[in-house]
Amino acid sequence: MQPQHGREATLLPAEQGQRPPAPDSTAFMCPYCEAVLTNPAAAQCDSCLRPLPQKGTPVLRVQFPTGELKVSVGQHLVLGRDAGQSPVAATFTQYDNVSRRHSTVWLDPAGTAWVRDEGSTNGTFVNGERLPRGVEAPLRDGDQLRLAADVTGTVQLN
Ligand SMILES: [Zn+2]
Repeated sequence: MQPQHGREATLLPAEQGQRPPAPDSTAFMCPYCEAVLTNPAAAQCDSCLRPLPQKGTPVLRVQFPTGELKVSVGQHLVLGRDAGQSPVAATFTQYDNVSRRHSTVWLDPAGTAWVRDEGSTNGTFVNGERLPRGVEAPLRDGDQLRLAADVTGTVQLN
């Protein structure tokens, strides 16, 4: 093997007045105590021990006029009007045309969001298209998820 000379370029003096961009240190600071984090992916801050927001962990949000639903990876959330069936029933109680158990939304480990109609009376729609009962349909950022005729939520997927 011949010695490599490709690194010589980095030894040239920098041009006058040119500086490397400052590192974005705020990305590695605790949002609570502003301590610099040695491991930004850690579950909690080394200094104040508060849990850190998990950047890069996908979260599905669906913004309905009556409230925002939030779904984490692995969580299956039943949407419906019956508090015994749906933990978010309060979001839908005022809508008589939403079924007691209407649809399920979830987020898989790959970060893909899904919705499935649970045999609702008035249907589950993605961007205006009615889902056949039991069929799993992907949800993308910006999609309109509609339950029955007029309960529309906007999908937010980061
Ligand atoms: Zn902290």
